Amino acid sequence: MALLEEPIKEARRLKNFIGGEWVESKGEIKDVVNPATCQTIAKVPVSTKDEIDAAVEAAKEAFPDWRATPPVARARCLFRLKELLEEHFEELSRIQTQEHGKTIDESRGETRRGIENVEVACGIPTLMMGYNAEDIASGIDEYVIRQPLGVFGIIGPFNFPFMIPLWSAPYAVATGNCVIIKPSSEVPLSQARLAELVDEAGFPPGVWNVVHGGRTVVNGMLDHPDIQGIAFVGSTPTARDVIYKRCGETGKRVIAQGGAANFIVIMPDANVRATIPALMTSFFGNTGQRCLSGQTLIVVGEDDGFYNNFMDAVVDTTSRIIIGNGLDESVQMGPLRDKEKREKIIGYIESGIQEGAKLRLDGRANIKIRGDYPDTCFLGPTILENVTPDMRIVREEIFGPTMGVMRVKNLDEAIEICNENPYHNADAIFTSDGKSAREFQYSVISGNVGINIGIVAPMAFFPFSGMAGSFYGILHTQGQEAVRFFTESKVVIQRWL
Ligand code: NAD
Repeated sequence: MALLEEPIKEARRLKNFIGGEWVESKGEIKDVVNPATCQTIAKVPVSTKDEIDAAVEAAKEAFPDWRATPPVARARCLFRLKELLEEHFEELSRIQTQEHGKTIDESRGETRRGIENVEVACGIPTLMMGYNAEDIASGIDEYVIRQPLGVFGIIGPFNFPFMIPLWSAPYAVATGNCVIIKPSSEVPLSQARLAELVDEAGFPPGVWNVVHGGRTVVNGMLDHPDIQGIAFVGSTPTARDVIYKRCGETGKRVIAQGGAANFIVIMPDANVRATIPALMTSFFGNTGQRCLSGQTLIVVGEDDGFYNNFMDAVVDTTSRIIIGNGLDESVQMGPLRDKEKREKIIGYIESGIQEGAKLRLDGRANIKIRGDYPDTCFLGPTILENVTPDMRIVREEIFGPTMGVMRVKNLDEAIEICNENPYHNADAIFTSDGKSAREFQYSVISGNVGINIGIVAPMAFFPFSGMAGSFYGILHTQGQEAVRFFTESKVVIQRWL
């Protein structure tokens, strides 16, 4: 494949996938723009209420037969899908880079993580088993069977267009439910391609549907009495004030994963050589648009020598990050998803400076872009020192390639700062001392905890966790928890006379 080979060559108008058919939407049409080249790569519809209703109808109709399909047969569809995803691995990855801007290696990682969820869901005949107890009273047995519920809505964010719907959809359909996926309309292409492969894999019509659009589609899902539950990933205001709230009002089960403002704690005994590369991917990977990204670095200890040497190494490595079109294999950081996001992040950098932070590396100035691309969505990595816990750049989610740095005296102080933040998604410690690591793991309020790991991304067979302001619900996406979310536990107590 040529270096910059783009699988999406012309801006075609996307259709919805409803009941096994590709259906033209009657909604308004929006452009999908590649943030590296600023070229329009697709036209995406803002689907109407009637269209989401039609998808729910198709899914509802497909449910009885799909539910009655033995789990082994449902798993065979997933095995075929897994093979197709492997066959189209590079194409799917390139589409993600085109629609989102991330580097091709980041997209390959995303494709792999998505496929892993399909692989785990292939184990559904065992994952879905219930449990039983004989003789709970004389001659009476009791058991639990797990049953699917019907139709689920799956709503994705812009930052992992391919992978995130796969944290839920494979488990939903493996357990016998039918799904409607609403991708982020900023990045709808990889879900459109995925649905074509789902179709090719032989899932019956109506089991897997895709409806493009925005709030009308989401509200249509939330209001619809035939949607049993919602698996949502996005920002905290949407997760908390729209999804969780409305699911509570309408009695739907819900997973609502929200935003993040994560901390990375550096102990004075950290292995510096191994830590620096981990910080680069944590803070600047995916151009900082990752709910697991580090946002604030807390350096522990009063040794100025350690701090200065450590920060010199961080700044030096950061300043050498190569920026450009993510399809260029030599590029280490792509653009932001769009101009508005870039402006919002610049606003945060300015607010940090106004609140007293010291600009150590300025990503706004003299951005060197490899290749001839408009600078509309590009922003260089930025480092701000002398940051304090009350600053907006610590308390609010920036979602860009910035690193705020603060110093504290000891680990207790670091943990207190982490715990007082409104978000609690993913915090990490770098240390060579087991006691500090154990103390951090024990005390920090964080759904995903890293110990000498910069991006705490749970594997598909573990829950993708999150706590407090970063998560609303009980069960999480991925693995066993997803299987439980997408099934009801029916209890049977029996006596034969
Ligand atoms: P977003 O909340 O703006 O949008 C997410 C989805 O909700 C989109 O499909 C969008 O169309 C829809 N939506 C947005 N506003 C809505 C409204 N008012 N009513 C109904 N629907 C609405 O999030 P985003 O900007 O696409 O994604 C980035 C956010 O997602 C960040 O905050 C990031 O931290 C978070 N995220 C969290 C996780 C996690 O696992 N916790 C993972 C990835 C991203």
